Amino acid sequence: MTSIVRASVRVEGVVQGVGFRPFVYSLATRLGLAGWVGNDVDGVFAEVEGSAAGVREFLGLLETQPPPLARVDRVTAAAIAPSGARGFSIVASDHTGRRRALVSADSATCDECLAELADPADRRFAYPFINCTNCGPRFTIVTGVPYDRPLTTMAPFTMCAECAAEYHDPANRRFHAQPVCCPACGPRLRLIGAGAGELAGEPLAAAARLLAGGQVVAVKGLGGYHLAADAGSQAAASELRARKHREDKPFALMVADVAAARELCEVDEAGELLLAGSRRPVVLLPRRAGAPVADAVAPGNRQLGIMLPYTPLHHLLLAEAGRPIILTSGNVSDEPIAYTDDDALARLAGIADAFLTHDRAIHIRTDDSVVRPLRGRETLLRRSRGYAPEPLGLAARLPRPVLACGAELKNTFCLAVENRAFVSHHIGDLENFETLRSFTEGIGHFRRLFDTEPEVVAYDLHPEYLSTKYALELDGVDLAGVQHHHAHIASCLADNGEEGPVIGVAFDGTGFGADGTIWGGEFLLADLAGFERAGHLEPVPMPGGAAAIRQPWRMAAAYLDAAYGGEPPAGLTVAGRNAGHWQEVVTMSRRGINAPLTSSAGRLFDAVAALLGVRDTINYEGQAAIELEQWADPAERGAYRATVEPGPPGAGAGAADVDATGEAMAGVGPLRVRGADLVRAAAEDLLAGAEPPAIAARFHRGVAAAIAGVCTALGERSGLDTVALSGGVFQNLLLLGQVVDRLEESGFRVLTHARVPPNDGGISLGQAAVAGARDRR
Ligand SMILES: [Zn+2]
Ligand SMILES: [Zn+2]
Repeated sequence: MTSIVRASVRVEGVVQGVGFRPFVYSLATRLGLAGWVGNDVDGVFAEVEGSAAGVREFLGLLETQPPPLARVDRVTAAAIAPSGARGFSIVASDHTGRRRALVSADSATCDECLAELADPADRRFAYPFINCTNCGPRFTIVTGVPYDRPLTTMAPFTMCAECAAEYHDPANRRFHAQPVCCPACGPRLRLIGAGAGELAGEPLAAAARLLAGGQVVAVKGLGGYHLAADAGSQAAASELRARKHREDKPFALMVADVAAARELCEVDEAGELLLAGSRRPVVLLPRRAGAPVADAVAPGNRQLGIMLPYTPLHHLLLAEAGRPIILTSGNVSDEPIAYTDDDALARLAGIADAFLTHDRAIHIRTDDSVVRPLRGRETLLRRSRGYAPEPLGLAARLPRPVLACGAELKNTFCLAVENRAFVSHHIGDLENFETLRSFTEGIGHFRRLFDTEPEVVAYDLHPEYLSTKYALELDGVDLAGVQHHHAHIASCLADNGEEGPVIGVAFDGTGFGADGTIWGGEFLLADLAGFERAGHLEPVPMPGGAAAIRQPWRMAAAYLDAAYGGEPPAGLTVAGRNAGHWQEVVTMSRRGINAPLTSSAGRLFDAVAALLGVRDTINYEGQAAIELEQWADPAERGAYRATVEPGPPGAGAGAADVDATGEAMAGVGPLRVRGADLVRAAAEDLLAGAEPPAIAARFHRGVAAAIAGVCTALGERSGLDTVALSGGVFQNLLLLGQVVDRLEESGFRVLTHARVPPNDGGISLGQAAVAGARDRR
């Protein structure tokens, strides 16, 4: 006779609203176990009784084979006395206590729903809002917690008898699927002409006809409105650019499936997994020669951003259209995307010829996420729809809840409690009222959703960031200012579940330095609590301040002046092209009038891009550096050399913050890397007739060599053998690959980003980690 055991089980993680209880029910039933399962504020609880082997198998499968959208953080089980009761049931939820269960991210339509969508005999055949517990909208429709239909934007839709029966049947795939609906009871699709009211005919077929005719159609998605146009039509793509006032920034595309993606791009295994996974981000992939995509889609870019359909509406539209479509954010220029119907109709009226829309409201604006595969693994450039608000685990528990307000550009905020960090969806550039409102409303929403009142608030040191101003106006909290590049390195540490100390390389465009100057090419000896500035690019003037960011030729002028200590040799075309203002800008640099000094790596890339004729002015952030990377010849093996010199002792600004790494640099100033040497080498190669792609590659390889050289010197001095790479410049794959290779060859362990972007979108996670580490002291 086998012995009977009973276990009390608790499952934590993303386990509610994802079909976990029906999964437990069918698993227990299949293994012949008795007991029950239910939801409470902490997640899922259960008791199971049966043979010891059955209970063991049950516990194993809970962790290894959960439903697709579940994320099991922890399963704990304790033996209790068997009761002898038979049968298995799902018991009522317990809503008492502090909420810790998690809202899941929006998820792409699952295969079972797709099969029903395509089945003429199914009652949801061709229904654009089909979903189940394994797929569909979540974060974007949740208005409050607990996650239940009345607290979603599905509240106005009363379930029909058939849907209600599925919803209440524990054996059904739609058991407690909050957005469940059907053509009889759910949302309805409409096609509205710009100013002309609802258009006649079947909305999807009519929208597809408009796209085929070269028109622009606004399409309501999960987290906002997109603008769609025929991706193969130069006229349609150019018209969309003109109407959106978007000069060069690439448009994302949507294609029907992986096979269609392969016609446009090189799709390796990692790329396919990213394209076809349930998160459905925009995936940046190498463009195939001769891909049938209009030039205006991604001018001057070797890559295309592609996504597969992630809602039933997208699947149906792509099938009707029968071609790849541009699917870009529904906005003008850099404004936030429109997500409410009234706002979309008003703001997109001059852009879209028609609106494919519906009556299920979007509660929170959530942009598409952007990723790219790197050496077989996912790297995020924008973490938003499909990822947020999934928590990131922290290595160390926070003593008190932290709100981190993030940076200014590509803003995200982060609410962190205990060992979980909830990094928000992409908020955007905090430069107008709309985005600032998204920021403040988003923080309020997260506080309610995760039942958390922050006691510590972290912010960037830049006094003009709106996120900083927001933090400084809060009452009754402890404030923690975090230096921008320290936050980058802490973000990389937290991303990897580590605490340091490490040699941190933070290369980006701009960040407020601990000494009040503009930093951006930084080597920090850092742990989560503190840092020392151990090296940096030698500062050069930024003639005209912000104007030098928009006009990279100004940085070429400043760098050439630094490189040659005066007049550069004749014959450089960048000086000729900008002759009208060149001397004035050089004078500005020399006199330091409206020419703040910066150690920014982004500005160094800008200077070389302008020097080579990639471009003299930019239309979007980072454009010159992005295009310089595209120009570089990957087969080139040469590298320019930059001098590295020790600076004066005591110049390690930020030293007051140091703790764990403190004494390593005593008596030595921060190392200074002469970026001007690289610019001079590029100029001389150019004058000698070398090809710009070779020069661009030698420059990239030179920067990588300088980074590796400085890390080696710092490693010898400090004894540290781990390097963390962060900052927007490391979105440059050519540079990142080079740096990682060289560091690994030198025996370093290298940490790069995986779960949050290396750019300022990852800053909030770093700020939270720093504030938590200081709070633990
Ligand atoms: Zn489904
Ligand atoms: Zn129904």
